[in-house]
Amino acid sequence: MDTGLSRRGLFGAGAAAAAILVGAGPAAASPGTSRMTLRWWGNNGWEVRVEDKTILIDPWLTRFKTGTYTPAGADPQTPLSVNRELIDGYLDRGELRADHILVTHGHYDHLSDVPYLAKRTGATVFGTETHLSLMAALGAPEDQLAVASGGEDLTFDGYSIRIFRSLHSATGPRARVPFPGSRPLSRRDRPRVIEDLVEGGTLAYQVTGGGASVLNFGGSNYIESELAGVRPDVVCLPVGGAKVTQYVPRLLRTLGNPRYVAATHWDDFDLPLGQAHDPNGGLDTLREAVTAASPASEFVVLDHLGTFVP
Ligand SMILES: [Zn+2]
Repeated sequence: MDTGLSRRGLFGAGAAAAAILVGAGPAAASPGTSRMTLRWWGNNGWEVRVEDKTILIDPWLTRFKTGTYTPAGADPQTPLSVNRELIDGYLDRGELRADHILVTHGHYDHLSDVPYLAKRTGATVFGTETHLSLMAALGAPEDQLAVASGGEDLTFDGYSIRIFRSLHSATGPRARVPFPGSRPLSRRDRPRVIEDLVEGGTLAYQVTGGGASVLNFGGSNYIESELAGVRPDVVCLPVGGAKVTQYVPRLLRTLGNPRYVAATHWDDFDLPLGQAHDPNGGLDTLREAVTAASPASEFVVLDHLGTFVP
């Protein structure tokens, strides 16, 4: 893709700073006092900054067109691409860095920029065996890839990462996982189109540091029993979940009604970074469910590159 220059033009230094609320709703959530800063990079791309450390979750800046939000749905034969010019711009200006990159599942809108970001940043990357197989085949440096199964609780310099077995969104009347499948680490044929990036299991991640914790789900489903006793300050919750029994109230009850619920995976990613648009009202549905289930929680909606301190 060769649209990096125009996209970069959209994001002058000034435009990147604002954390703004999109659409109707309550005033922007009141910031906390931790030394953690969250920045939303669109879709389920989150940057967790704790002092001088940066953890990225599902970073996907390229956002190529697939038709996901058309009646026909995503074209499975859409070629994979990485907008290196766009990514290089953020990295070279020091606006993006990474010590860890956490991958929730293998789909193109979560994983496809990670191999290049890993190579450029030197970050350690967590994912399942399938995710690592896909990323290695896409050129990620293999000595940076760390396999996870869910259940890990790991401490690094200044922050900790807890990994949970989780579930992908179940979509359509049959509650199916799109592009299902797995592959062994030994398989190295290069993925070419979006259906080659199979789900490969789904993980959730909690990052704790700087006096706060954030729990991220990359799909609108979860395993309740895995989350017993987990008490994050922020939960990043995807829109959707219509087929999941009591999707929002059951989760928030299990997590002890977190102070902040940050909407994620709600924007039309056929549009470039900088154009956060809710294609089908998912945000309003999520906001209403959160307000009904946990009225004391603050519902946080950021614009692309918006930041928030829990
Ligand atoms: Zn997915």
